[in-house]
Formats: sequence, C-alpha cells, structure tokens
Amino acid sequence: MAILTEKDKKYTSPEDICAHLGDNYADFNGAVIPPIFQSSLFVQHTETNGVKEHPYTYSRSENPTLEVAEKKIAALEGGDGALVFSSGMGAMSAAIMHFVRAGCHVVLVGTCYVGANTFIREYLYNKFNISFTAVHGGDIKEIEDAIRPETALIYLESPSTFVFHMQDLEAIARIAKERGIGTVIDNTYATPLHQQPLKHGIDIVCHSITKYLSGHSDVMGGVLVANEEIIRSVQANERVLIGAVMDPHQAYLLIRGIRTLPLRLAQHGENGKRVAAFLESHPKIERVFYPGSESFAQKELFEKYLSGTNGLMSFIPKGTEAQAQKLVNSLHYFQNGFSWGGFESLVTYVGSPERGHLIRMHVGLENVDSLIDDLKNALDSYDKE
Ligand code: PLP
Repeated sequence: MAILTEKDKKYTSPEDICAHLGDNYADFNGAVIPPIFQSSLFVQHTETNGVKEHPYTYSRSENPTLEVAEKKIAALEGGDGALVFSSGMGAMSAAIMHFVRAGCHVVLVGTCYVGANTFIREYLYNKFNISFTAVHGGDIKEIEDAIRPETALIYLESPSTFVFHMQDLEAIARIAKERGIGTVIDNTYATPLHQQPLKHGIDIVCHSITKYLSGHSDVMGGVLVANEEIIRSVQANERVLIGAVMDPHQAYLLIRGIRTLPLRLAQHGENGKRVAAFLESHPKIERVFYPGSESFAQKELFEKYLSGTNGLMSFIPKGTEAQAQKLVNSLHYFQNGFSWGGFESLVTYVGSPERGHLIRMHVGLENVDSLIDDLKNALDSYDKE
C-alpha cells in the first residue's frame, strides 16, 4: 500500500511522475531502476540481525516494488494513494466490494466491461441478494430515477470501450454524495493522463493496467486510487483478505511501462486519429465510434473531461455479419484478438443484436500508413463475394 508523502508530491508534471517518482538512488548504490523485491516476507529488526526498522512484513500486505508503481499512479490520478492487484478485475471487484453489503442496490452503466457487469448482475445478485439497475448513463435524470433508498454504489465506465458511452462525472458525483452513495469508475480507456475522475468527486478510480498503463501486452494487473481512508480500508480488507495482490515482477514491468506512457499514448492518439479519419471517409463504412472525432455523439462530455484520445475505436461496415467477420479475418497487421492498449494493432468482431455488426479495433504503434493500406486492401475486396 502506498500513500503519497510530501517528498513524492514534489513531482507534479505527468512526464516527471512517470519517469522519476519513486526513484531511490541513495539506498540502492545509484541503481537507476529500483530493485525487484521478489521476497514474500520481510524479517524484523532484532538485536543481532543488523536489520534497520522498516514498515514491511509480508508481500500480500505491502512490498517496496509495488509501492513505486502505486505512487506513480496515485500521483497521476491526483489521489492520496493506490493499491495494485493481480488483474484489473481484482481491482474492480475490490472497489465494488468496498461499498456494497448484502441486500443493497447498485446502479451500473450497462455498457461497462463484461467482467464488472457479470460480477454485479450475476455474482453479487445471486450470492448476496444485491439488486441492480443498468442505465445508459448519458442522462442524469435516468440515474437519479434509478437510485433507491438502499442504493450503495454507482458504478461507471466513461468512456466505455465498445461504443464509448460517456457519463457526466461531476453531476453523478454530486447526486451520489448528497445521498451517501459510493462511486467507482473504470478509467482504463482514458488512463490517468487523459482523465482524472477523483478531481470531479468520484470516490474510487480503477484501471486494468494490462492495457495502456503497462502497454506491452506482457503483464496483467489492476490498480485502484482513492483517498487515504478508502485505501487503508481496501488494503486491510479486500486486498489482504481476498488476496489478489500484484506480484513484484508484474510491478516491475508496470513501472517500466509507465515510464513511456506519455510517449506511447500520444503516438496511439496520432495513429488512431488517422485511422478513424480514413474509416469515416470510406464509402463501405456505415458508422465509426471514435472519442475525439467530429462525429462523436457525446463530443461535449469528451471535451469537458478528456484531454486526449488514443488508438481504440469501433466501426460498423455496410453489409452482412458474414462480410464483417470476413473483413476482420482478411487483415494482416491487425491480428484477431480481444485485448487492447499494447504496442500491437488488434481487431475483433463484437457484433450483437443491440450493437449491429460492430468491429472493435485497436490501433498500435506500427507505421500508420501500413495500417491504413492494410484496411484499404481488405475493404477493396470486401464485397467481392
Ligand atoms: N476494464 C476494461 C475497460 C477492460 O477492457 C478490461 C479487460 O479487457 C478490464 C477492465 C479487466 O481487466 P483485466 O483483464 O486486467 O482483469
């Protein structure tokens, strides 16, 4: 568990936080990279062992490598502290469990990530009689109407990652606070570089660090950021007791990924804008969903809350489902895979009766002209059969 100290707070710009917060040259012989404390336990000071007094006991509770990652993300989000987990779902389920109790009610954005959706709508509902109301989220009145006397949590994801629905965070935080309801947001899409929900009154911010924060498709993990009271409570309860803590090697890879986050995200944004513009101008494409584009349905909310865009988008090609599936499989650079946020371009068919023949695409760090050529070639032969 890491709570930011006054010394940590001397780093204020995101680039400096990503590069240097948590450096400790003095204690580690000038090593530029803090060591990986691959140790499950930490023995305590005795009269004979020469160990100095220190705060560490057991790595399920706290570990110095994890704390470097936690401090960087807490500072980027503007929170008091952070806790890292073994997956994004580890962080999100812990944040949800912090607020709910048996028999309560949860309002959730219906388009939130499938794991959180299933956790609330099936697991908590079946096991603990926790009821829920799924909302679109774009209309405050709809959220107010969904709240009941026993509502304990409003669960948000803004933008969501298939159709990019957004919510007005300030307005939702206000109505939740007036009624003593907790708020949790999945901020994975934006990363702390592009949106800081705590500043708008949200109680807990979660991320799957498997995506942009680590950025290399070589590590799974999650993090939650909040005020000190919440961090201490989640650390002592949901993280220690359920035990989905991050491993020190995962934390090392996360720290390494964060150092280049500003550069990677800027390039994903540049490449993403070019690809989205190409798709929007193509006659065989019916609709493109790309936060930040002129055609984005909730442009006002995007401009209010987000300071940048990235490589994630969806689109609906004209034609049949079979044609859409064929398009996905005829690309070369865009491999057919479900995740996003790494260096590589990915594409996957996520069509459904509600969404239509939706294709979700992640634009990676390859040469953007190669990516556009790949799409152009696939679309040229799209309706031949
Ligand atoms: N939130 C979003 C928006 C995601 O896309 C994902 C994973 O795809 C998660 C949460 C869950 O994260 P993880 O797979 O690291 O548990």
